[in-house]
Amino acid sequence: MGLITLRTAALSVLGLSSFVFIALFGRLPIFRKTPIGFLHRLLWIHIPHGLARIDSLLLGGRLVPCCKSFGRYIAYENHPLVLIFFVGLLSISELMFVPKAWPRLGTFHRAFVLISITLPYIFLYACVTIKCFITPDNVKTELAQYPYDRVLFHPGNECSTCRLLKPARSKHCSTCKACVSRHDHHCIWLTNCVGRQNYRYFLALLLSLSVMLTYGMCLGYKLLNESLQKAFGTGGAHWSNSLSWTSWINYWALAVADDIRIGAVFLLAGMTAPLAFGFLVYHIYLVWAGTTTNETAKWDDWKEDIAYGLIYKAKRSEVYKTPKPRDESIEPKTQWSATTDQVLIITNGEPPRSNSILQAEGEQTPVDPRFKLVRNLQSLENLYDLGFWDNLRDALNLNI
Ligand SMILES: [Zn+2]
Ligand SMILES: [Zn+2]
Repeated sequence: MGLITLRTAALSVLGLSSFVFIALFGRLPIFRKTPIGFLHRLLWIHIPHGLARIDSLLLGGRLVPCCKSFGRYIAYENHPLVLIFFVGLLSISELMFVPKAWPRLGTFHRAFVLISITLPYIFLYACVTIKCFITPDNVKTELAQYPYDRVLFHPGNECSTCRLLKPARSKHCSTCKACVSRHDHHCIWLTNCVGRQNYRYFLALLLSLSVMLTYGMCLGYKLLNESLQKAFGTGGAHWSNSLSWTSWINYWALAVADDIRIGAVFLLAGMTAPLAFGFLVYHIYLVWAGTTTNETAKWDDWKEDIAYGLIYKAKRSEVYKTPKPRDESIEPKTQWSATTDQVLIITNGEPPRSNSILQAEGEQTPVDPRFKLVRNLQSLENLYDLGFWDNLRDALNLNI
């Protein structure tokens, strides 16, 4: 009985968390060409297509429009269903766990429990309420935040919806219906975009969730282990001494079933802590690389063109002997400490040819020696990478 309870609880938590993970995050560029990306496409594209075919055969296509508008609502409208699910799961788990564990905890653990369950709510609140939208009032300030690298971001482009100039590193979010400063991604858990002004709280949320879940898991382990010791430990020996592996699992299943409030939260925390940690590590990697989730997708496109041998680079100062004066109204001066002297061109695979020298008819123009073939993404300069610590200061929105 105990073993079945444990197995069912573990499998349902694992199944549910993998499903949520794939459905929400499978579209991220990091999962492109992985089983997670494949399952995400299966879930969002292939299964709906299959169902639509069945619907048109059996019901004359009456079901699809309803499902489509519901799907559009879930995926693209800014609704709080996922946020409610998230806060609900968090609060119910805490209400199950904390009152039950409280009498068995010492002062240190009581204080730590209070801190670790409060912090995620504070950071979550900040992430949800702080908007990073570009408005007519702040567009000037936003334009002066980052220089245009002329690789991922080019000056002088106007957003066709907001009718405002697009600052470097920004992106229009169709869900928030606004351009977002230093756009990282639209997070449906937060019903908000993660951008320049709230990224620090987003990092803090990931960190505080990782700490809380790991701590919850360890505390759950400690309490269940104590119960087992009390029930089965004899003569000072540890209860699990000389137990076979299967009996050890059976005893744990018993402990979970016997104290289901602590047991279930222990399992849930154990299975979701790696998710939170995974995202924290991914975002630390993004900070280290001086990039954002949005920009990694753009870099991926460059990577593909590089793989096909289409990208050539040269020194801007060599190509443009007399650089055009900067138009302050579309490209104001920034405080950014890095500059770049790189110019990239996309070719059809042929090396660029110099057209400055007049050629006799029929003679091919010579290859332009200033342009070198780009062989890998690492040989491109990323203007937004200042080194880990300065990237971190920028990500935390501290003045650099
Ligand atoms: Zn816009
Ligand atoms: Zn958004």
